[in-house]
Amino acid sequence: MTESAVLAPTTLAWITRLIAFDTTSRNSNRELIDVIDAELRVHGLDPVLVPNSDGTKANLVVTIPAHDGSTTGGVMLAGHTDVVPVDGQAWSSDPFTAEVRENRLYGRGAADMKAFSGVILALLPELVSRPLATPLHLAWTYDEEVGCHGAITLLADLAARGIRPSMCIVGEPTSMRAVSAHKSSHLYRVSFTGLASHSSNTPNGVNAIEYAARAIAFIRSIADEHRVNGPFDASFEVPYTTINVGTISGGAAVNTVAERCDFEFEFRAIPGVSTSAIFSRIEDFVLGELRPAMRAEHAIADVSFAPIGAVPSLSAAGTGAALQLVHELTGTSSEETVGYGTEGGLFQLAGIDTVVCGPGSIRQGHTANEFIDLAQISACEDFMRALARQLAHQH
Ligand SMILES: [Zn+2]
Repeated sequence: MTESAVLAPTTLAWITRLIAFDTTSRNSNRELIDVIDAELRVHGLDPVLVPNSDGTKANLVVTIPAHDGSTTGGVMLAGHTDVVPVDGQAWSSDPFTAEVRENRLYGRGAADMKAFSGVILALLPELVSRPLATPLHLAWTYDEEVGCHGAITLLADLAARGIRPSMCIVGEPTSMRAVSAHKSSHLYRVSFTGLASHSSNTPNGVNAIEYAARAIAFIRSIADEHRVNGPFDASFEVPYTTINVGTISGGAAVNTVAERCDFEFEFRAIPGVSTSAIFSRIEDFVLGELRPAMRAEHAIADVSFAPIGAVPSLSAAGTGAALQLVHELTGTSSEETVGYGTEGGLFQLAGIDTVVCGPGSIRQGHTANEFIDLAQISACEDFMRALARQLAHQH
């Protein structure tokens, strides 16, 4: 392995160790967090755990203060600890046993995003070796893959403790390119309750499926408006806001008026589009037109919305110094957009200048035989070393 020879001696060991924890979002991440916590303490740091409501998962955040003891401002490196399931995927090796083959490291989370975390841990000695001009904050979150729940509690903790990083670099896989914008995503479930009846007597019932179908057709019409009329942002591969109905279930039998129908939809809005306006139009149609029509058939009928998750957009207009920093650290000047959401939107919303930049390609994220090129890991090491130099206090 010629390329692995250029990596720091502990980098592959750290990434391998992190991948060995099955931190699929449905599982606890506490064992992995405890290992990071212990390592940070070895280097004299004092990490803070921010548990979820039942304590089964935790964020971890630590601040390496500036040379004068200051913890204000500075740069935050942020990554999530959870990974997506391997269920139903055909892997050619154990997903939780990292394996190096042909200059790639394979394993669940190799790209998304345990290599980023592994590089930080391997280079901790360098990150803490010099007095810093401004603080460095390291943050690991839970439940990113299922709605960015951890980032929300992390931000609440930072605010409560008065810790306010000036900039944040989210290490999601971007092939080490600076990503300054992504769309928002908003997920909802809509539940229609009608009234069952023998299908020979339809006036006796209320057909939940038929009303859900009208709602779905309305949602599609709004999606078509955005596709045809915009607003457009040409920097995105799909340059307009999209809406998708992704699941539907309902009905009991073909000879029965359907009592229940549920569907889930999401929309992904380009930065600057009012997401509340989109949702309000759908809500107004469903609650203002469909529900009264259902109830006119029978008073028991009802329909309800439940939000499943939301990730705010990351706007290029909100990035300044962080983008410049990433350009300096990577020696590039490109600025890209991506279609997937990240915790970066939440950090930006909290007033932190945020850019996404991390090793590996999103194309390998979430796939069977997920891998990261060793060259990407090496590039991430270079990035961290450059950051350590950049943050160092100049005497
Ligand atoms: Zn990710």
